[in-house]
Amino acid sequence: MTDHETTCKICKKPISVQADPDCEAHWLKVFLSMVTCDRCFDLREMRLCATGKLQALAQYLMAIAAIKTIKPEDRQAKRKKIREHLIYWTRQYAEWFSKFHHSPRYVVWNEEFADIILDAPHKLDEVLRQYRQRTRPMLQQPEAA
Ligand SMILES: [Zn+2]
Repeated sequence: MTDHETTCKICKKPISVQADPDCEAHWLKVFLSMVTCDRCFDLREMRLCATGKLQALAQYLMAIAAIKTIKPEDRQAKRKKIREHLIYWTRQYAEWFSKFHHSPRYVVWNEEFADIILDAPHKLDEVLRQYRQRTRPMLQQPEAA
């Protein structure tokens, strides 16, 4: 293995990686352009996981709303259960966003985040976008890079 210096494709932090010395120059270049640091890799996984779960819950809510034959009490019970999951995954999403902005101890979250999605699952993307817009200024600090 030979060492190569490159930068994380997400945060641009310099990192050194190892590659097979027989690797063709073209593929080595492609490989080096795709490398992410550990932090960015973990954060990406966290974001994809939380977003994926929230999307699945929103789909489920829309499916339940579309079925007219469900008894009101059953519908309520299902929504209550989904709300618990929404609370957990919106919290995960908020933790991801805080870590992303180097503020792991300051998480901007309350149950309203879950309730907004519960009431408007078809607007999930919009809700997440607004959350990031509103929260970003609270998390950005001068020392964060
Ligand atoms: Zn990085």
